[in-house]
Amino acid sequence: MKTTSAPAVAGLEMYALAERLYPICRSITGDGVRETLAVIGERISLEVHEVASGTRVLDWTVPREWNIRDAYIKEPAGRRVVDFHEHNLHVLGYSVPVRARMPLAELREHLYTLPEHPDWIPYRTSYWQERWGFCLTHRRLENLEDGEYEVCIDSSLEDGHLTYGEHVVAGESDAEVLIHAHVCHPSLANDNLSGLVVATELARRIAGRPRRRYSYRFLFLPGMIGPLTWLARNEERLSRVRHGLVLALLGDSGTFTYKRSRSGDAEVDRAAAHVLAHSGSDYELRDFDPYGYDERQYGSPGFDLPVGRLTRTPHGEFPEYHSSADDLRLIRPESLTASLERLTEIIDVLEGNATYANTSPKGEPQLGRRGLYESLGGGTARNERQHALLWVLNLSDARHSLLDIAQRAGLSFGAVRAAADALIEHELLREV
Ligand code: ZN
Repeated sequence: MKTTSAPAVAGLEMYALAERLYPICRSITGDGVRETLAVIGERISLEVHEVASGTRVLDWTVPREWNIRDAYIKEPAGRRVVDFHEHNLHVLGYSVPVRARMPLAELREHLYTLPEHPDWIPYRTSYWQERWGFCLTHRRLENLEDGEYEVCIDSSLEDGHLTYGEHVVAGESDAEVLIHAHVCHPSLANDNLSGLVVATELARRIAGRPRRRYSYRFLFLPGMIGPLTWLARNEERLSRVRHGLVLALLGDSGTFTYKRSRSGDAEVDRAAAHVLAHSGSDYELRDFDPYGYDERQYGSPGFDLPVGRLTRTPHGEFPEYHSSADDLRLIRPESLTASLERLTEIIDVLEGNATYANTSPKGEPQLGRRGLYESLGGGTARNERQHALLWVLNLSDARHSLLDIAQRAGLSFGAVRAAADALIEHELLREV
């Protein structure tokens, strides 16, 4: 009988969820976001918030809600040459409604293509400036003949709401770990269905842990205006946030890239660096910059939250980025699985990190008498275990955390945590 391993099953489930979400036309507001949250809500319980257009959030205002039913360009002979129902990227996101006839020369001012990738449709939006437009393959644009075209964008831009979803996995304390994934992109797979499905599965995994020191808050928010809205509405409780991660671009086969929080040495930064260093694969660490995804809102100086970012290939650094080529073929179940595994390991470090004092600090306590020093056997596992015991005893001086010890000793966090557990059992450590 052929069995599929649990991680492989998780990868297939995450991929299947991405397949379901892919066709939905999402934006920073509107029914596409609601539909997406409803699908995610079948896997984890989501609290869905609706914030009215016009609400002031920090220096911004929640925009009017955008919805779209149909959009097309008809050539002079009457055939649709660009059709929203063929691909939702065909419409410039947040296009105001339009019904008009115009010559090709005039229409061209509203058309966006990628000449360097003539078969891909670009992804373009205009949230903060009223415009209308279409995105199409450069090849199709080149084949349009002069003449009068009919254009229709059957959209609405009206007072409504900004919608976002929140899911909490409660732990033993109120101290929280924030996990953020942006929910505003239409049919693009890596950016960011990959982040949404990995975050969803991570929430399920964390809920299954036997114990949790921290509470976990998962945020499914539209980019930029989403975290601005959430931060504005939750300002008085931000002191609970101990660690945070922005998740995006986790489905391609590129190497992991961790971007540090604003401070650069937050515990989550050190946990992520440690996990990636012990992953056995290539990875890259980058310093914070006030650019990129929503880490820059959490890391704005007035909040300065310890929120880092985990991606594989960063935004703008793979050719398919923000185009129709970021489709379901770009993401792979095994990549999603490996992303979930690394995140689980980062959570293991955050959950397991603590600082202890050696209760027998004068000289080395006799480990053999306590059954902690195996005289028989050998090999690297035994060596690692014994090294870990000695390192933990030596550096547990009430100043070094287990993560400090793992880094100093060049050991995996898991080995150091296991050694600490064995020493605690024999009352050789007490928590500080
Ligand atoms: Zn994007």
